[in-house]
Amino acid sequence: MNFVSKTLNKAKNQTKSVLRRSTDRHVRVAVTGLSGSGKTAFITGLVHQLLKAGIPNQPSNLPLWHVTREQRLYGVERELQPDLAISSFDYQGAMKSLTDMPSKWPTSTRNISELRLALHYQPESGLLSKFTERSTLILDIIDYPGEWLLDLPLLQLSYNDWCQQQSDKQALMKSSPHFEEFYQALLKLDLHDKADAGDIERIAKLYQVLLMDLFNERGYYLAQPGRMLLPGDLAGSPMVTWFPLLHLSPEELLFHSKTSSKDSFYQVLQNRYQGYVDQVVKPFYRNHFCHFDRQVVLVDSLTALNHGQLQFNDMLQALSQIIESFQFGKSNFLRRLFSPKIDKLLFAATKVDHITRNQQSNLLQLLNDMLRETQQKVSLKGCDVETMAISAIKATKHGVVESNGQKIEVVKGRKLDNYEQVTIFPGDVPKRLPKLDFWKQQGFQFVNFAPPLTLESEVQPELEHIRLDHLLQYLLGDKLE
Ligand code: GDP
Repeated sequence: MNFVSKTLNKAKNQTKSVLRRSTDRHVRVAVTGLSGSGKTAFITGLVHQLLKAGIPNQPSNLPLWHVTREQRLYGVERELQPDLAISSFDYQGAMKSLTDMPSKWPTSTRNISELRLALHYQPESGLLSKFTERSTLILDIIDYPGEWLLDLPLLQLSYNDWCQQQSDKQALMKSSPHFEEFYQALLKLDLHDKADAGDIERIAKLYQVLLMDLFNERGYYLAQPGRMLLPGDLAGSPMVTWFPLLHLSPEELLFHSKTSSKDSFYQVLQNRYQGYVDQVVKPFYRNHFCHFDRQVVLVDSLTALNHGQLQFNDMLQALSQIIESFQFGKSNFLRRLFSPKIDKLLFAATKVDHITRNQQSNLLQLLNDMLRETQQKVSLKGCDVETMAISAIKATKHGVVESNGQKIEVVKGRKLDNYEQVTIFPGDVPKRLPKLDFWKQQGFQFVNFAPPLTLESEVQPELEHIRLDHLLQYLLGDKLE
């Protein structure tokens, strides 16, 4: 090889290496949703499918994802996560639960966690494909409770405003047998007295029990402060040890704020509220939310339908509040406080394997209707918004049975409560938000299923899904061109 061609080769190789470094891309995809919406199952199913898709010479389980369809994906591997202060998403633990005997659904999201994958692929076209055989997309997946986004309004509310808002929700809170005890404790509290840490702890515990009961037993979704339901590493700290004074009128609240001394119950509660806003809510938006590139919001409409009309409406309200976090046009206060940069927002109706195939489009239409309702108040301009109906880990099989000469679609699976194998017609999913008459006539009873059975005996488990490939194409397609 002569000097000129040697030099040219060297230059080409250097260009390649510089290009490879500069073409390595990075995307942070956050996953949220209210408790039970399916975040843990979703991330587990997604990572499982991604790792499988990266194994060479294996048939792809993601046919609608262009990079796999075009056989341009060379490998997918886990990498060390970048943020040392955030827990790791426990993928191994989740897979272990699913493959245990008997198999169990993994433990639900309680806190923020993350996981990093490197996706090695062949660029499709353009300059990149000429110089690089391979590029790498670094994918960070961040999981966090949707309840944390319900705290967004607190950024604009004083403690008194917030107490007043909670007071307006008393009718709903009274549906819990725990309301009375909390309310009586409030009545006995002299807010001008010197604060006693034990008393505050006791009453905050009563408030937490009330919120938990409303959430877990009565199917309500709206709970503030969000960290009282899912405190994560704040559990037991004064930061989540306070409560609303919902027994007071606005005038009485104002009176207390003007007349109570620094160390009084009133002032301590107000300080803790402000501390929570400044040291918990704001840092979440500043340190995490602002660094997400793309966001998946999971919505479990089926469970909300099962709970009934009041709870379903409550979920709509919670969803509407969650969406406000993504409304950051120029004039929005969130944009003024921080600078979020999410460019794709995907709402996914989860657990579609609960229902028959012919009902899946209804679930999607219902989700769209729910979003239309909630988006009347908020605008998501500047963000590309999409909706889908998915199942991250398919726990049922579809079937058809004949009844009175008619073919009826059914689903087959094991019931979650007793692992009994059932073949059922789960019922129709409404295409639109059900009206009052509808709720009066009938309720919903969508059955919850145990994880898929096929895993029990398998060394290399193979999870099935519904439309994760479609979802991956939407979320990552442009990053892998
Ligand atoms: P999280 O609180 O958002 O983390 O919710 P999880 O991921 O823990 O899901 C809550 C429950 O929903 C699980 O325990 C399962 O019973 C159910 N689930 C979640 N995803 C699916 C799915 O794709 N199919 C089925 N059949 N059930 C699911």
